[in-house]
Amino acid sequence: MSSPYAKSCYNTLMPIPAQPLDTSVCFRCGECCKRYQVLLDAAEANRLSEHLGISLADFRTRYADPRWPGSDKLLLRQSSGACPFLHNSNKEFLCTVHKLKPGPCREWAADLSKPECKRGLKSQWELTVDNTGCLQGASGDIRAFLEYHARLSGEGD
Ligand code: SF4
Ligand code: SF4
Repeated sequence: MSSPYAKSCYNTLMPIPAQPLDTSVCFRCGECCKRYQVLLDAAEANRLSEHLGISLADFRTRYADPRWPGSDKLLLRQSSGACPFLHNSNKEFLCTVHKLKPGPCREWAADLSKPECKRGLKSQWELTVDNTGCLQGASGDIRAFLEYHARLSGEGD
């Protein structure tokens, strides 16, 4: 069974982490929210429309992808290549409806073995994970990522 932790793999120039890197921490690259369109059920669409202070009909007009057949479910359309509820805050991608996010988003778990998380690690941090689980890249980038990651780990969800 694979470990949820990445190996340390640091040379003597790198700080020794207090504990192994937990690869299940989302580092907010936004790749998954850019790559996939989310399917909502009627209850989720209702909750979001109420939260936004608009009618369900307005919600459909603004956020539903008309290509989705039927009306019992609703497919969120993309806006500028991402979920319309994804907010870029100085390159940190945040869900603006985090407390109400739909089932598929709640079920999605960050994992550095996933292609989406790997892609975000590369695009946001210029880092990769090798096949032994070690972070690869410039030592300054690894250091910055570890500091950011430690801060997120301390914040919880
Ligand atoms: S609802 Fe939030 S978590 Fe789900 S795809 Fe949109 S931005 Fe991402
Ligand atoms: S791709 Fe992974 S790290 Fe990036 S936002 Fe999605 S779950 Fe988080």
